[in-house]
Amino acid sequence: MTTEAPAASRFSATEYRNRMRRAAAAAAERSVDALLITPSSDYLYLLGYQAPALERLTCLVIPAEGEPSLVLPRLEEPLARHRLGDLADALQVIAWDETDDPFHLVQILVSGVMRVAVQDQMWARFALRLQAAVDPAQMVAAGPTMSSLRRIKSADEVDRLRAAAAAADSAMRTITAERLSGRTEAEVSGHIRELLREAGHETAGFAIVASGPNAASPHHEAGERVIQAGDAIVVDIGGSLAGYCSDTSRTAFVGEPPAEFGALYAVLREAQAAACEAVRPGVPCSEIDAVARDIIEEAGHGEAFIHRTGHGIGLETHEEPYIVASNPEPLVAGHAFSVEPGIYIRDTWGARIEDIVVCTDAGGERLNTTSTELYIVE
Ligand code: ZN
Ligand code: ZN
Ligand code: ZN
Repeated sequence: MTTEAPAASRFSATEYRNRMRRAAAAAAERSVDALLITPSSDYLYLLGYQAPALERLTCLVIPAEGEPSLVLPRLEEPLARHRLGDLADALQVIAWDETDDPFHLVQILVSGVMRVAVQDQMWARFALRLQAAVDPAQMVAAGPTMSSLRRIKSADEVDRLRAAAAAADSAMRTITAERLSGRTEAEVSGHIRELLREAGHETAGFAIVASGPNAASPHHEAGERVIQAGDAIVVDIGGSLAGYCSDTSRTAFVGEPPAEFGALYAVLREAQAAACEAVRPGVPCSEIDAVARDIIEEAGHGEAFIHRTGHGIGLETHEEPYIVASNPEPLVAGHAFSVEPGIYIRDTWGARIEDIVVCTDAGGERLNTTSTELYIVE
């Protein structure tokens, strides 16, 4: 989930005004007459602040034509006006009182339309009431409209992703230089969260520490297992800085790795590097996945690479574009995503290498700069 960016990390009011205009245009292109956006990363993207997600309806209404409106509970109005600043002038702010029907207020704003799009993570309690309120208009998901904007990062957004990556790298450098054996996964994970915050993250979203056989589980939750000699350890960490997410994985080994693991890791490292190298505008997302997968398959580990190669990243850790065999979408400059192949041998060990890469006109830029070598730790 997204977290609130500090006030200082907001972009200019002009930037948010432009985003709302672009959202209206993108809606019109999809024959959507209005976007209904409740608190979410889409809301944050459009307004630059996160309203609390409550049982009381807060809803940004962006018509394809005309001025946007913000329908919100009266008691949330002071916070909204404070956080919006000058941007409040670009909106019709409609505060509702405790006994008002906010769904009716939205209904008035969108009366006569054919098609409305609701934010993808809108609570069902709102979506169902809104559906009844806008009847007989058709209701569709706002995801395609919003992600058409959000998937292409501006230079300022890339700067934030770069800063978030640098902070995660600093935590990764520290942890991979420490003695890890004799410590529990949970303790190491807790320490990583501290390091992420010390490096400037406002939230330390996750710190996967998967040791020994646990390393074969890509989303293993750090637990009470004590790290020991002969363990492979997948460390996958991230959080958000100035609203933008970091996400990086490295693999460590306690002591000298057996030749078999060394060989597996060399294949993984080659696959990850080749996929990063392949990034440039026009290359389909599916092709980036194939570049990594082909190398792993050829080495006989195809069945051990049990997930897609990557996911887009921005205000959310996982967003579009997805780097998966089923996505033919061509990369364009401004796409930012993870390249994170892994090899997982059940009950034995696993390895993953993950970098955030931005597609630029000149090719892929890796935002993570720590070495992708296997970290030999004590
Ligand atoms: Zn994941
Ligand atoms: Zn990750
Ligand atoms: Zn990831």
